[in-house]
Amino acid sequence: MSRLRFKAVEEASKHTPVEIAAPDGLPSEYYGKYVFNRKRMAKYLSKETMKTVLEAIDKGATLQREIADHVAAGMKMWAMEMGATHYTHWFQPLTEGTAEKHDSFIDYEDVAGGDIIERFSGKLLAQQEPDASSFPSGGIRNTFEARGYTAWDPSSPAFIVDDTLCIPTVFISYTGEALDYKAPLLKSLSAVDKAATEVCKLFDPSVKKVFSYLGWEQEYFLVDQALYDARPDLSLTGRTLMGHESAKNQQLEDHYFGSIPPRVAAFMREVEFEAYKYGIPLKTRHNEVAPNQFELAPIFGETNLAVDQNLLVMSLMEKIASKHNFKLLLHEKPFAGINGSGKHNNWSLGTDTGVGLFTPGKTANENLQFVTFLVNTLMAVYKHNALIKASIMSANNAHRLGANEAPPAIISVFLGTQISAVLDKIEYSSEDDDITVDELKKMKLGITHIPEVLIDNTDRNRTSPFAFTGNRFEFRAVGSSANCASAMIALNSAVAAQLIDFKKIIDAKMKQGMKKEQAIFDTLRIYIKECKPIRFDGNGYSDEWKEEAKQRGLDCETSVPLIYDAYTSEQSVHMFESINVMSKKELHARNEVKWETYTKKIQIEARVLGDLSINHIIPVATQYQSVLLDNLYKMRAVFDAKKAEELSKEDASLIEQIASHISVIKNSVDAMVEARKVANKIEDAREKAIAYHDTVEPFFNTIRYHVDKLELIVDNEMWPLPKYRELLFIS
Ligand code: ADP
Ligand code: MG
Repeated sequence: MSRLRFKAVEEASKHTPVEIAAPDGLPSEYYGKYVFNRKRMAKYLSKETMKTVLEAIDKGATLQREIADHVAAGMKMWAMEMGATHYTHWFQPLTEGTAEKHDSFIDYEDVAGGDIIERFSGKLLAQQEPDASSFPSGGIRNTFEARGYTAWDPSSPAFIVDDTLCIPTVFISYTGEALDYKAPLLKSLSAVDKAATEVCKLFDPSVKKVFSYLGWEQEYFLVDQALYDARPDLSLTGRTLMGHESAKNQQLEDHYFGSIPPRVAAFMREVEFEAYKYGIPLKTRHNEVAPNQFELAPIFGETNLAVDQNLLVMSLMEKIASKHNFKLLLHEKPFAGINGSGKHNNWSLGTDTGVGLFTPGKTANENLQFVTFLVNTLMAVYKHNALIKASIMSANNAHRLGANEAPPAIISVFLGTQISAVLDKIEYSSEDDDITVDELKKMKLGITHIPEVLIDNTDRNRTSPFAFTGNRFEFRAVGSSANCASAMIALNSAVAAQLIDFKKIIDAKMKQGMKKEQAIFDTLRIYIKECKPIRFDGNGYSDEWKEEAKQRGLDCETSVPLIYDAYTSEQSVHMFESINVMSKKELHARNEVKWETYTKKIQIEARVLGDLSINHIIPVATQYQSVLLDNLYKMRAVFDAKKAEELSKEDASLIEQIASHISVIKNSVDAMVEARKVANKIEDAREKAIAYHDTVEPFFNTIRYHVDKLELIVDNEMWPLPKYRELLFIS
């Protein structure tokens, strides 16, 4: 009798919506309360300091130490008024998530000791040395014996969590290599700003800056805390490694359209209240397709800030979930047989003059600019499709991509019929056509009405990993637990490099005396032809597409460790180095970290799966088998042999089935342990990850299949783990 499971089910059934107190006033009144934003700066900094800081933020200028001292003083005053006693440099190591080390403001008043005071200087604000030896660095630090340090990113505002002032920082080694996501992200944003601004000047010389925008949609699951605690696989790996599908899942799609369960609604409300206090403009909340799956999304913002806000929201959600007796699951595939979770990255570029570069315009000039950015993005994604896939790939996300519910592990771009028609018009226009602004007007590319049509949601393709949605691209293959920065680094870098190439070509053509419009038009025509293989509007889930994508030469690799090779291909190294985002050394080091992380994840899953199978499942199956045997034995004692055989035919068959499942499970676990032993001896991080992928992971499905079969046979009263039907339906 499985007491643990039933106790958990009982406890979960007692949980009711948690009462939450709404903050005083409207969101607009407490919005940004915990953030050292421009409003607070104006109050706590001198005019002079404020001006210099804003310049650093807007133009990327370096801040002098003296200014940092002033900012630190203002920040400290505000933080202490808010009740903060500690501060931390908040950074984004390659392990995903964020890291922090808290220090108190207290210090001795003078070197001789004695009384203490609260101190926070520009030096402490600007730079810190976390004891970072335990953060993965792919050998950069070991090899160069350089410690890492964190450095303040003034473009993302400091904020207060509980009693701690958190300062967003980059994390780099003393030899200058990035050990985190933020450092290369900032470089990629600056690269795309520069490259895109140059291209914009072809159309509007007054443009001085181009921003990259990100609007993320975060999907997640909630399960009851008590049930979660009774599932060692969920607690240790973030996903269920076994569990037969519930008879009712998402077939009826009733969850997607259904109302939000009251316990969850209370959780969502509290997340929103808190997020507003952090200046995170959460806008949307709803149920997702799978039972217990939900989504939230803010209004989009500048990419660096949006990335930080996503990380902050993930940790807020985790904290708030436990207050509501939930466990938040950010894993990409917590449950087999139902949808996994992604994090759609809505991405666009926009100028300081307020023009969205993926928003079709009203004039011929605006529309030529729109098509220019659209086609260059297609080219970037086409050239770097393997890299862009690598940027979102992980052991977790591999379960989601390629399954019949999420984009496949092939990057393609959906444009929809209207935009495709526009590109076709350009492609099939004659090379001899003389293109002038007037000509463009005459050609009527038919762009003017496109945004309305698309925003009306008439032409959307849910199976595409990278879809144009009217005024932006929606990169849907990003994983729910990932740091958005990884995808944003690859995408913004690829687009920056592409725009630089484009601008060079246009400049050269114009130098030869060609008119600007003609030069642009001719180049776009060539690009449209060249990048055609990346365009796909059909069903991305179909097997035919996998075949066709191969024919088209798109990257179709499915093995995670091999997908990472795209980071260190000659093409990627050249691209990243040419725009100063990452060096070859950094790219190699970061891949080491990715391979190690992959290996560790599979290793942990293999151990948990082995333990659960041997210690939880087989003993219970054997116990039930012996109940059946006992019954059979008694039949024989009571009835004559013929009758007994007749009556116990079903029992005998079940006994044999159980024996056969147990035997496959036991043999597979043994073989998996052996495969692990062999893999563990491999020194090279890449080879080891490949061994884990090729020789360890394949056992997971076999073991799971037979465990799930046992779940259907063994007496429900005995089964030790909460079942899917118990885990998945919050009332
Ligand atoms: P969906 O219909 O895909 O579920 P949502 O409204 O839930 O769309 O989310 C779309 C996200 O895209 C939001 O975060 C929204 O602010 C963002 N978004 C809208 N326009 C842009 C844009 N031009 N650039 C970047 N993000 C945008
Ligand atoms: Mg979306």
